[in-house]
Amino acid sequence: MANAVVIGSGPAGLTASIYLVRAGIETTLISGDQPGGQLIFTTDVENFPGFPGGIMGPDLMTKMREQASKVGAKFIDSSVTDVDFTARPFLIKTTDMELKADTVIIATGASAIWLGLESEERLKGKGISACATCDGFFFRGKNVCLIGGGDVAIEDALFLAKIVNKVAIINRRDELRASHIMQQRAFSEPKIEFIWWHVVKEILGQQKVTGIRIENVKDGKITEILCDAVFVAIGHKPNTEIFRGKVKINPQGFIERINKSQTSVEGVFVAGDVFDFEYRQAITAAGSGAQAAMDAIRFLDKVS
Ligand code: NDP
Repeated sequence: MANAVVIGSGPAGLTASIYLVRAGIETTLISGDQPGGQLIFTTDVENFPGFPGGIMGPDLMTKMREQASKVGAKFIDSSVTDVDFTARPFLIKTTDMELKADTVIIATGASAIWLGLESEERLKGKGISACATCDGFFFRGKNVCLIGGGDVAIEDALFLAKIVNKVAIINRRDELRASHIMQQRAFSEPKIEFIWWHVVKEILGQQKVTGIRIENVKDGKITEILCDAVFVAIGHKPNTEIFRGKVKINPQGFIERINKSQTSVEGVFVAGDVFDFEYRQAITAAGSGAQAAMDAIRFLDKVS
């Protein structure tokens, strides 16, 4: 029987496992440091089809894992420390064992970069979010602040402007990193206001976000802005450290897809946020997990 190792246990890895097992492939999923991925840190998920009343992020991941387990995926709750993709079977080392695999799916995800404030940590899920598409809806008609100035920040601000009353974008310089076209769209959106040359010193609120305290980096002046939510959009860090030099990685650190979901190594596939800097949704990650599994199944058929 051919065997597969899936690295990562977010929606991409779990969906890939379900497809692989159901194709008769012995599948082991290595769940990593943070089983369940980024959804473990979210509260209500209202945009994942099949749950008309919404579902809590951790509950959704528990259900996906249950389903993968029920069809027969094996789980190793440990982290991968090294891989050898130079020859098949591929070698995967975890903190306490070594596995061999005929095919591998990398689904290690990405982590949002946060500001690193104590108040941010305390209020995560209580009005602080790194996903406007996921959480913007909860702040319909409210005033929100958004930190960042890249394409994601501006895309998020334009998305939020359709839902909320006002978006204040806090930018640490007086220019944006986002593409020209995105900038023009944001500048002509009356609900978006730019606050230049400022950094966030503290997120205000006890049980939920009530505002932010910002500092003018030029003169040190401190100001407070009232808002009901803070969206942090200062980048994502793909979890690719262990794959450096093993598969092709782009300059931003994301794994490159060479042919459909295949990486630069034949037989090694990729799914979810570890390659996808653009969509970053649970449903798109799950979809790409299915695609990677189908490509892996075809690969195994071809080489067997
Ligand atoms: P980027 O790295 O492009 O932008 C990050 C932004 O956050 C910058 O404005 C940066 O400021 C700011 N920033 C970083 N750290 C801090 C901090 N500690 N405090 C305050 N501000 C901070 O990341 P994105 O996530 O926006 O985009 C990632 C990549 O994805 C980019 O290459 C982007 O072009 C691409 N992308 C493309 C899309 C498309 O083509 N449709 C859609 C979405 C993303 P500063 O500029 O001062 O460093």
